Amino acid sequence: MAELTLPYYDAPPPPTHENEPVIDLVGVTKTYTSGSIEFEALRGVDLRIEQGEYVAVMGPSGSGKSTLMNILGCLDTLTRGTYHLAGEDVGELDEIDLADIRNRQIGFVFQQFNLLPSLPAWRNVELPLVYGRVHAAERRERAAAALERVGLGDRLANRPGELSGGQQQRVAVARALVGEPALLLADEPTGNLDSTSTHDVLSLFDELHAQGRTIVLITHEAEVAERAERIVRVRDGLIVGGAA
Ligand code: ADP
Ligand code: MG
Repeated sequence: MAELTLPYYDAPPPPTHENEPVIDLVGVTKTYTSGSIEFEALRGVDLRIEQGEYVAVMGPSGSGKSTLMNILGCLDTLTRGTYHLAGEDVGELDEIDLADIRNRQIGFVFQQFNLLPSLPAWRNVELPLVYGRVHAAERRERAAAALERVGLGDRLANRPGELSGGQQQRVAVARALVGEPALLLADEPTGNLDSTSTHDVLSLFDELHAQGRTIVLITHEAEVAERAERIVRVRDGLIVGGAA
C-alpha cells in the first residue's frame, strides 16, 4: 500500500472543560419515523457520566440500547433534549462537525472487531490518526505505543487473521485509544469472544479504568455488566436505574 501523504498541521487541541462530565444528557428523546408511523425509542433520558467512570448500559432487546449508543457516539441525532459531550453541545452541530467531534472525543469498540484484514495490526491502529492528519512517523510511534499498552507490543506486524479473537479485539481497543479520546464506547465488545478472550478484554478494561479512562460498555450480559463500576438500566426507552 502506498504511503499516504497528508498535509501535516497542528490540530487545535479539544476545548478543555476539566470539570465537565464526559456525558451529560438531559431530557433526550428519539423518535423514528417511517411513513406516517412514529415510534419513540427514547422517551426522556437523563444521564451523566463523569470523567474516569466505568459504566455499563444494560437492557433487554428492543429497550433502546443501540439508539442510546448511536446518540452517545454522535452517530445519530436526537429528537429533543440536550447532549453535551466533554462540554461541547452536540445538538448544535452539523454532520461535518459531528464527524469531527466523533473522531476527536470517542474511541469505538464493536462486537465485530471491524479491522481491515489486509493491514498489519499497527496500520489498523494508526487509522484514526490518518483521518486526524497526524504525520506518518508520529502515527507509527503512537500506534506502537497503543499496541504496547494493550499487551500486543510483539504483534505489530501481524495481520488480523494471524491473531486470536481476543487479540483482535485488543487491536481494536488500541485503535480506539490511539487518538486519546475522552470516551471509550464499547458495544457488546465480548459478544464474539470465548470465555478466555472475554476475560482478557474485560481485564484490559479494568486496567484502563484504573488508569483513569472513561468507559461506557453496552451489553445484555449481566456478568459483563457487573465488571463496571455502575450499571445503567434501560427499559422501554427510559433509564430505570443507575442514571445518577
Ligand atoms: P436495543 O438495542 O436495546 O435492542 P434499539 O435501540 O435497537 O434497542 O431499538 C429500540 C426500539 O426502537 C425498538 O422497538 C426498535 O424496533 C425501534 N427502532 C430502532 N431503530 C428503528 C428505526 N430505524 N426505525 C423504527 N424503529 C426503530
Ligand atoms: Mg441493539
